[in-house]
Amino acid sequence: QNQQSVTVIGLGPMGQAMAGAYLDRGYAVTLWNRTASRADALVARGAVLAPSAAAALEAGELVVLSLTDYAAVYAVLEPAAGALKGRTIVNLSSDTPERTRAGAEWFAGHGAVQLTGGVTVSPAGVGQEGSVILYSGPRAVFDRHRAALDVLAGVADHRGEDPGLAALLYQINMGIFWTAMLSYWQAIALAEANGLSATDILPFATDTSDSLAGFFSFYAGRIDAGDHTGDVDRLAMGAASVDHVLHTMADAGVDTTLPATVAALFERGMAAGYGADSFSRVMELIRAS
Ligand code: NDP
Repeated sequence: QNQQSVTVIGLGPMGQAMAGAYLDRGYAVTLWNRTASRADALVARGAVLAPSAAAALEAGELVVLSLTDYAAVYAVLEPAAGALKGRTIVNLSSDTPERTRAGAEWFAGHGAVQLTGGVTVSPAGVGQEGSVILYSGPRAVFDRHRAALDVLAGVADHRGEDPGLAALLYQINMGIFWTAMLSYWQAIALAEANGLSATDILPFATDTSDSLAGFFSFYAGRIDAGDHTGDVDRLAMGAASVDHVLHTMADAGVDTTLPATVAALFERGMAAGYGADSFSRVMELIRAS
């Protein structure tokens, strides 16, 4: 096994960036993708397009998977399962922790080992300094392939042995990401309805998002300690503020799904009698019971 060789299966924007990063570092790169034409630019740069997923697996020990989800993983690899024995599968396809754990078992049943990855960067960040990919699964496998993993991100961060852990941390991040980005689209819609562009409000939006890290760390310790003292903020104040946001949005004629959902949660907190406590006490409504 030549350590400088890798197979990449799945050539969406992410898989293409990863295969490109390996070519940049002089790796021998074998590719497979359902839509073969997505390999064209990489083949022009020296990668080899395998005729089948099984042939791609047979090209070498180390296989990077970058598919939409685990349903796609099975769609691609079930017909090629006979070629999985002895392979290390760096599975960077995102899905739920439960599905990634089941995936690790499925690969083990075919004589392969899965290292789960959660990619926290966009395709442009692949291979860049400071970019992070979270991994979980067998530490020894992570260590053995460390050089190849370091090609994909500035920081290859192994978090633990549980194959679901990287997926869990990834989903925690993505829960923040998608709702925060939606709140940004919401802000832009309100701005536009009032004659301002996304670019006009960028400095304000950036200041607000930059301030969030301070709020996260302030509340983390308090929430862990079960402390919802209303000394710096009160839910009653928050509920009134959220109501202003909701009505400003409604007056502007923009969709109110997101602010109405936030307002409903604050109202439930008020109805539960939390008005004099910090708005962090709505945690009690969100937390698994
Ligand atoms: P895409 O969904 O664009 O590409 C996924 C790949 O999956 C393509 O190669 C596609 O093949 C293949 N695929 C999907 N369904 C099937 C199927 N049923 N059978 C065979 N092949 C299938 O994803 P990205 O490249 O953007 O991302 C890959 C992974 O990385 C995802 O899990 C994503 O969540 C994660 N990720 C992506 C980020 C991003 O910014 N793009 C950021 C962080 C993580 P075909 O080309 O034939 O359609």
